[in-house]
Amino acid sequence: MKKKLIAGNWKMNGTAASNAALLKALLDQSAGWNCLVAVCVPAVYMAQVQGIVEGTGIALGSQDVSAYESGAYTGEISAAMLKDFGTRYAIVGHSERRQYHGETDAIVATKATRALAAGITPIVCVGETLAERESGRTEEVVKRQLAAVIHANGHCISEIVVAYEPVWAIGTGKTATPEMAQQVHAVLRAQLQAASEHADRVHILYGGSMNAANAEQLLAQPDIDGGLVGGAALKAADFLSIIAAAK
Ligand code: 13P
Repeated sequence: MKKKLIAGNWKMNGTAASNAALLKALLDQSAGWNCLVAVCVPAVYMAQVQGIVEGTGIALGSQDVSAYESGAYTGEISAAMLKDFGTRYAIVGHSERRQYHGETDAIVATKATRALAAGITPIVCVGETLAERESGRTEEVVKRQLAAVIHANGHCISEIVVAYEPVWAIGTGKTATPEMAQQVHAVLRAQLQAASEHADRVHILYGGSMNAANAEQLLAQPDIDGGLVGGAALKAADFLSIIAAAK
């Protein structure tokens, strides 16, 4: 069985000093880890975090990647640049970027393609809003979001990570029940299986108010292969508890 993946998404939080303290607290306890661990950090701190985590049990991730390869795109950061700083994972299509930065399914698919081409594993986020869930459209929405990425990257779809993050559960303290999450993860797994014979390799992460108290039950579900953790990834004790729950 594949090891679970616990990825922290720090979002727009941290300072050089707090990053160093958080990573030290995590690495001090890293001897017995039985899962893959990553931190997805603000772009300006990639070099700092690379210097601290290189050669350790923590992999480096970014929170985004440009849809463009290189050139006159002021403010953008390319996949090749991220790779230059030891980036292993890149979150693409987080709901906050879809919502606040107008990212469409097509843009997200292109970003996933750029990451894969540079040897970076895209963590493709999908998830429904509360209105979509309440109108019974959850499956339709997540399948549409994943289909765009499958369509653009069919031949290497087993190289991606998928994160199911119901928008209504992000930062709200409302978690999907393990059964609700598993139901959606099974739908996503079946969709991947239809596209690739290696779909079982794909980590499908749950994200949305995952914490020390609910992680074990969520991670016990057959198609939940890890977590994409926001708020609880900023506190060493909480993140370590989630890592410990990922057996
Ligand atoms: P929270 O864990 O803070 O709800 O955030 C989840 C998330 O958006 C991770 O990408």
